[in-house]
Amino acid sequence: MRPTRSGRVPLVAALLLAVASALALALVPAGLALDRRIEAVLRSTAVEDLGRAPMILEDRTAAREEALSMHAMSVASADGMAQALADGRTGDALAQATETAAMYGEDPVLVGPDGGWVAGPPVPSDALQAVRRGETPVLYVFDGGMPRSLALAPVGGTGEDWMGAAGTSSPMDSTMATTLAALARADVTLVGADGTLVASTLAADSAAALAAAVRSGAGRAASEKVDEIAVGEGLTWVAAAPVADAGRVLFSRSADEELAVLPGVRRSALLAGGLTLILALGVGAVVALSLARPVGGLAAAAGRVAEGDFAAPVPSSPIEELDRLSRAFRSMRTSLQSRLAELATANEELEERQHRLRDLQAELIRQDRLASSARMAAELAHEIRNPVANVRNCLEVVRRKLPEGSESAAFADMAIDELLRMHELAEHLLDLNRPVDPGAGSCDPVAVVRQVATLASMGHQPVPVDLRADGVDVRVPMPPDALKQILFNLVDNAREAAGGEQPVVVAVTAGADTVTVDVLDRGPGIAQEVAARLFDPFFTTKDAVTGVGLGLFVAEGLARRYGGRMDAANRDDGPGARFRVVLPRGPEPEVAV
Ligand code: ADP
Repeated sequence: MRPTRSGRVPLVAALLLAVASALALALVPAGLALDRRIEAVLRSTAVEDLGRAPMILEDRTAAREEALSMHAMSVASADGMAQALADGRTGDALAQATETAAMYGEDPVLVGPDGGWVAGPPVPSDALQAVRRGETPVLYVFDGGMPRSLALAPVGGTGEDWMGAAGTSSPMDSTMATTLAALARADVTLVGADGTLVASTLAADSAAALAAAVRSGAGRAASEKVDEIAVGEGLTWVAAAPVADAGRVLFSRSADEELAVLPGVRRSALLAGGLTLILALGVGAVVALSLARPVGGLAAAAGRVAEGDFAAPVPSSPIEELDRLSRAFRSMRTSLQSRLAELATANEELEERQHRLRDLQAELIRQDRLASSARMAAELAHEIRNPVANVRNCLEVVRRKLPEGSESAAFADMAIDELLRMHELAEHLLDLNRPVDPGAGSCDPVAVVRQVATLASMGHQPVPVDLRADGVDVRVPMPPDALKQILFNLVDNAREAAGGEQPVVVAVTAGADTVTVDVLDRGPGIAQEVAARLFDPFFTTKDAVTGVGLGLFVAEGLARRYGGRMDAANRDDGPGARFRVVLPRGPEPEVAV
């Protein structure tokens, strides 16, 4: 698995790892348990089978013993047998016994009337006694290094008729081992009473090793009846069955051979496990990709949202939960987009309001400043008005005593005129601070502008006035003289700014609550550095002869006195200044300032 550059594992790899881990966790212990179980079953089956082998031997022995008794009786009752023994013709008797025993593939056993041995393995005396009593015993003896079965029957009868004993014997050899091996489905090894190897279905060295191991008593119990013995390099399970005192039959199975199927089973299990893993990883990869693709698409779309792109495609998924997530993401994105749009609009509105608030604050500060300036100017005017009137009265007395046409009279007239001008100025300044007379009246602003235009075009410095007031028929709560004085000041300034040749435009417009009078010229306009101080008292950019700096101050004061306001700006439609007077609409004056 390759971690990404962030050090995190991709979803597909994580899912595949989970599938592989889950399979490994499930398959490996299950495989090991199965392996152990198979081994245990194979082992116990083999051991149980082997444990039953001695019973097979017992059954076979029982059946065989009957046959052997019959064979013995057949030999004992052979024609002329009793007579030959009675006559002492043991050679004839033996020939007869040999012939009859040969019919069964067995060896003859013959005992004379005196109990003396004639042929066959030596017969134990108790067995001979039993024969004398008329029994037909079957017994096993170890003779000539080999266990043998021995069956005897009386010849001639019992008591006085008893002529001896005859019967058959057969060795327990490789033929018997092969027969038993087929019946018991196990290898069979015959060992004699002294522990020596007699016959075996095993290879000679294996048989010898097994016989030696059994003789030495090595091994441990694999079950009640079966021992597990190390023979050579492998393990062998062995069930031993005694054959009277003549020897033992060893039934054996090689553990290696019994479990030989295991490696093949293991290989198959490994192959099946590998194929299952590959199949599971394949299916897991398909599922993981169908999970990872929509998740990756969602992550990409979320990243694009962070960059401000709300139109990135959001994939659908056949998996219900993922598809629900996609739908939720889409609706979340849509509402986020509309919230952001609302926020942007609210921000714009807020900015606009702040702008308006700043303008309003500046206007309030300006008006406050102008109001206090007007108060100060009025106080000053009040202080100088009476002395100026007194000086003028004195000068008029002096003037009356001067001869008409004299140079002194001319000087006195000039001084009187200047004092008159000063008096008027003081009166104007005082007017600014006087309460408004409720009966001051109102006027038609268009008519006033017309009068001003007529006077301006006739003065000693005439200027054409272009009146624009189409369809305006309103009144403003201001005496006509006050509006006239405002407009005179503005038209005069406009004439001076434009050089006197250009016409001055006066436009009157009516709003719902206000009437606006704009005075426009084509002069140089208003420089930025003086804009804030235009309406200040005694502010002028003109020389001492032409400028006093009270024109705009008085005009603004008059406008404010009658509930209006004034401002100045440069024109939007080219060079020049625009002075605006905004007055309330209606016949009654507002509260005085
Ligand atoms: P004054 O005319 O005696 O200077 P005002 O109060 O009438 O006093 O004007 C103050 C100043 O405002 C002027 O000196 C001038 O600089 C400026 N001003 C007034 N009207 C105009 C105008 N139409 N164009 C440019 N500047 C003007």
